[in-house]
Amino acid sequence: MHERTVTIAHLYPELLNLYGDSGNILVLRKRLLWRDLRCVVNEVHMGDKASLADADLVFIGGGSDREQTIVCDELRSMQSELRSYVEDGGVLLAVCGGYQLLGHSYLMGDEEVRGLSLVDLYTDRGSPRLIGNVVVQSRICAQPIVGYENHGGRTHLGSGIEPLGSVLHGYGNDGTSGAEGCLYKNVIGTYVHGPLLPKNPGVADWLLARALERRYGTAELPSLDDAEELAANRAMLDRLLP
Ligand code: GLN
Repeated sequence: MHERTVTIAHLYPELLNLYGDSGNILVLRKRLLWRDLRCVVNEVHMGDKASLADADLVFIGGGSDREQTIVCDELRSMQSELRSYVEDGGVLLAVCGGYQLLGHSYLMGDEEVRGLSLVDLYTDRGSPRLIGNVVVQSRICAQPIVGYENHGGRTHLGSGIEPLGSVLHGYGNDGTSGAEGCLYKNVIGTYVHGPLLPKNPGVADWLLARALERRYGTAELPSLDDAEELAANRAMLDRLLP
């Protein structure tokens, strides 16, 4: 029997893994296995000669300014391959430090981390850091997205770039625009840690559906019993929204 497989490329987990971001991989894996779908996770480490030929979903987690500085050159060695992947509808999730690296640059005063320019956005640094719980309403899922943010960066989207959603609680991209994250083709960039996916199963399934659609031409995903995930999501909404 033909077994559908989703292959995930997890970029630089040893450097880009703030606030449990790698937990997103566990969620994606579980939600595939629960549906009798196969999941292969390829970790890409510093110094690896990575290829995205088999990738259905790329994940880039968050990192401190220091870690972003260490990883950015290595990441940019994959720039043209990543760009072709994204333009071809490749699915990519990037969180916080990883989200900032999707853009043209992250300006930290006199220092600049050059990004991948996969999405028309850039980030500069502001004060104070934007820290706390966050709630975002997005068109990609019914439930508001809940999580945690902690960033000095302020991200500014290019005029044609859609945000992932609007901030119902917290700060989002820059603390003033009301926008959170970016949505470009099948790319999600977001400041939401937590990790993001355990309490936001709709986001996980959006990513998996896009990945299956691109690989197999159908996004068919049997529904799961998400009672616990949605109760956890609801508990945060009850705490944070008026
Ligand atoms: N270092 C970046 C900032 O402070 C990203 C931090 C993060 O990934 N949480 O803005």
